[in-house]
Amino acid sequence: MDAIISLAKRRGFVYPGSDVYGGLANSWDYGPLGAELRRNIKEAWWWRFVQKRDDVVGIETALIMNPKVWQASGHLATFSDPLVECKKCHARYRADQLEGACPSCGGKEFSEARQFNLMFKTFIGPAEEAANVAYLRPETAQGMFVNVKNVLDSNRVKLPFGIAQIGKAFRNEITPGNFIFRTREFEQMEIEYFIRPPANDEEWQNVFEHWRNEMHAWMRDVGIDAARVSEFEVPAEDRAHYSKRTIDFMFAFPFGVKELYGLAYRTDFDLKNHMEQSGKDLSYLDPETNERTVPHCVEPTWGVDRTLLAVLLSAYTEEGEGDDARVVLKLKPALAPFKAAVFPLLKNKPELVAKAKEVRSQLMDGDPRLLPIAWDDRGNIGKRYLAQDEIGTPACITVDFQTLEDDTVTIRDRDTKEQRRVAVADLPSVLGEFLAR
Ligand code: ATP
Repeated sequence: MDAIISLAKRRGFVYPGSDVYGGLANSWDYGPLGAELRRNIKEAWWWRFVQKRDDVVGIETALIMNPKVWQASGHLATFSDPLVECKKCHARYRADQLEGACPSCGGKEFSEARQFNLMFKTFIGPAEEAANVAYLRPETAQGMFVNVKNVLDSNRVKLPFGIAQIGKAFRNEITPGNFIFRTREFEQMEIEYFIRPPANDEEWQNVFEHWRNEMHAWMRDVGIDAARVSEFEVPAEDRAHYSKRTIDFMFAFPFGVKELYGLAYRTDFDLKNHMEQSGKDLSYLDPETNERTVPHCVEPTWGVDRTLLAVLLSAYTEEGEGDDARVVLKLKPALAPFKAAVFPLLKNKPELVAKAKEVRSQLMDGDPRLLPIAWDDRGNIGKRYLAQDEIGTPACITVDFQTLEDDTVTIRDRDTKEQRRVAVADLPSVLGEFLAR
């Protein structure tokens, strides 16, 4: 973890939040490379689960919703964790995560556990009074549930269909920590997948199985190390209030095996409650049977920040010894912040620099999937390779004296360190091969 955290800060993936003011505990900012990596994760997800599928549509909904939403969803009553306080040093912990003594002072006596609601409270408008209380959303899911009717009325969707969203969620976690693993502000990628009320268990189990496989396929595609992934069948007493079955996808983080993603069968809990509380009919008119039914829902959910952490941990490699030692981020090329880097062999030869700039700008005008392309002319070539390895750039292209004669460049492979000469005209197709890995 220390290696990842220091690389993340040094190279501009993740910085401590509000750094100049000494930080704000457990808040983090994404730097230039982290912002690129994060976008690439979200774009890969949106492409795979929304744009490429005929049965899923994407929406973006408000972070602050009518408080009645949280009444209906059960969050006001039950979205809480048991909080205990150490009697000696008054540190506060989540009772279900505490093992034995107080981690900060060693004290063994704790207060009675009380339920602490995790929703962030705020006020709408200038008057801070009860009537104006609102909450920052603790999950994106309710944005989908309250829009089911709008989506049905404005799109030609038929059951089964999903509504997807990527967006921030806020939870006033009692014990955040472990870098970006648990923060109070984070981003989710969620799908509410609606099905006909199942006639038997097999019907929803099949859909559940489909999403379970999709989640594994996603992890493979973004390079999350399958050997570190496991599934945890959440027992009934630990499941969220709405769930009939939940699987947590666990990842072996350096600080323990912890939840990465979740998959839950939420039944018709949410829609039924919203119908009751809003008085609106959210049922679905089946075009075949002409019957009205309330859809059931299977929900796969992914955390963006935990994805980024698992991707970094899976990709981080230390190799070689002595002069050959290097750190390589073996990111899937599609996720890499830069798809390639272009270098002039020598910084003080204007003709090399001009040619290298030309090669880069040709690439920058080309296929957007092969972008962006980094530029580096500092130090020697070996150092530049190492600097790109460390941030996961799949290919380094060097313009040398031979380039000026025959319009070929060397291209170096991040993973094998092998170099070969290719024609400048062939670079897009060669980089395309890297991307397909
Ligand atoms: P945990 O048990 O770790 O608190 P959860 O079961 O409450 O998580 P869900 O409500 O299922 O989490 O949220 C869906 C996903 O959102 C999680 O699988 C995780 O990837 C992400 N997530 C949840 N809470 C946080 C957080 N505090 N910080 C970062 N990501 C989070």
